[in-house]
Amino acid sequence: MEELRVLLVTFPGQGHINPSLQLAKRLAAAGLKVTFLTASSGLTRMSKATTATPPGLTFAGFSDGATASFKTADDVNDYMVELRRLGSRAVEDMIASAAANGQPFVHVVYTILLPWVGQIARDLNIPSTFLWIQPAALFGVYYHYLNGYGDAIRENVVDPSWSIHLPGLPQLHSRDLPSVIKPSNVYDFAVPLVQEHLDFLASEKNPKILINTFDTLEPEALKVVENINLVTVGPLIPSAFLDGKDPSDTSFGGDLFQKSADHYIEWLNSKPKESVVYLSFGSLLVLSNRQTEEIARGLIQSRRPFLWVMRRTENGEKQEDKLSCKEELEELGMIVPWCSQVEVLQHPSLGCFVSHCGWNSSLESLVSGVPVVGFPQWSDQATNAKLIEDVWKTGIRLTENEEGIVEGGEIKRCIEMAMEGEEMRRNAKKWKDLALEAAGEGGSSTVNLRAFLGEIEAGGEPDEPFLSPLTL
Ligand code: UDP
Repeated sequence: MEELRVLLVTFPGQGHINPSLQLAKRLAAAGLKVTFLTASSGLTRMSKATTATPPGLTFAGFSDGATASFKTADDVNDYMVELRRLGSRAVEDMIASAAANGQPFVHVVYTILLPWVGQIARDLNIPSTFLWIQPAALFGVYYHYLNGYGDAIRENVVDPSWSIHLPGLPQLHSRDLPSVIKPSNVYDFAVPLVQEHLDFLASEKNPKILINTFDTLEPEALKVVENINLVTVGPLIPSAFLDGKDPSDTSFGGDLFQKSADHYIEWLNSKPKESVVYLSFGSLLVLSNRQTEEIARGLIQSRRPFLWVMRRTENGEKQEDKLSCKEELEELGMIVPWCSQVEVLQHPSLGCFVSHCGWNSSLESLVSGVPVVGFPQWSDQATNAKLIEDVWKTGIRLTENEEGIVEGGEIKRCIEMAMEGEEMRRNAKKWKDLALEAAGEGGSSTVNLRAFLGEIEAGGEPDEPFLSPLTL
């Protein structure tokens, strides 16, 4: 087979890199040559990934002008402008130099927040595909917000008792909606970028996107946007946890941020089945010291073993050192700065996952059959938490007090419910089986991925529908 080259461009955040990297690995394993391009600030977290990747996958980075930290929302808004300027140049250069070397890219894949990549590909006459890395439900929420429901949401969303029924979605209360469509949003770039993605799709003849979810998980949300074909390829998690064919493929890319001691696995080995509470709030969030203290109190009250990921601050400080009850806490459980999360979630001793409900963490909990205590903070997390609690019924969401703090007693209460709720555990196991089925041989996501590969192989025009699946 002639060598087919694909350029995959992603935003340099962990939650974007992880699923994109899994898609890149699947394309490379099918025989394509894939260049994974992101800003160098994201690549540096992946240094180990480069040593553990299949042949055919290479990494490239560009400078995004990121300085050490983002102190204000304006810093982030400014960063997005720079990312677009520098990223556009990098994508154009990469495509041009590949063509000049006689190894042109035949397809470009790009993720959310980067609609300009699709435009560049189109200008250079290369077919492109958009990879949506949140659930279909969120695509639906944004779509309807920008197509007919925006005024109703803006006018009412400040009322906590208000709710709305958007097509294909459960009844959503104000607190279930994504933060970027609320008046309190400070990230000015977010909604216009989603609009730009939708405008770009609308200008295609047969718009379609790849999406990191699976058919049985969101059957209604997947169908609701009539003229855009949402094609499921999820769950995009390391293949060892799906088909087990490549047992070495267990991580998203090594230690990524901060290497934690691997002794947490040994520690988990020493704990009884389904006894451990795992806590992690993703790669970005930093909870206030007061909130961290309340979580610690909740853990002490519940008297269960726990594994808690508390990332270090940029200058290496440990937030746990500020806890008034650190010693008492460490008698019960273990605090690590980072861990191999899917490995942890799949460990037999895992009982429940106290999570911020980022989409990767949410999917990973579903694939692992682990009940969730949801503690959403921003972006899509509140909607994900709603789906976990009310649609998939694999978890429970924490409730804040009037000051916006979740108290220790509430944390204990929800941990007890997740650990002891038999229905939640039964549902979690059901979704695990369905996720594995979707990603297995003959499963919907596998079939869709093969069809996508077939399209690339056939030199698919950007506006053509997917071809029928090829055998690879
Ligand atoms: N993660 C990890 N180890 C940790 C914490 C997080 O490997 O200690 C991974 C996790 O498995 C997930 C990603 O980081 O794939 C976080 O993505 P998510 O969408 O859940 O949250 P975000 O970081 O985007 O807020």
